[in-house]
Amino acid sequence: MMNRIFTSIRASQNIAGSPRRACKDCGQPATKDALFDVGNGIAVVERYCDQCAKVIENNSNNRSSV
Ligand SMILES: [Zn+2]
Repeated sequence: MMNRIFTSIRASQNIAGSPRRACKDCGQPATKDALFDVGNGIAVVERYCDQCAKVIENNSNNRSSV
């Protein structure tokens, strides 16, 4: 299992005609893309709603102080 490092949150881009993505955590319509660095120059994007994106951001900030 690879270690994911949170990188940043960006606004999810709405492409006309594409299906609406659901938040990975709660299933609401996703409005944010969360970027994670999994090493070897590989980045993964996961979709989250506003609230869950904030939680991820906060958790990441807390963890960096350990
Ligand atoms: Zn959510």
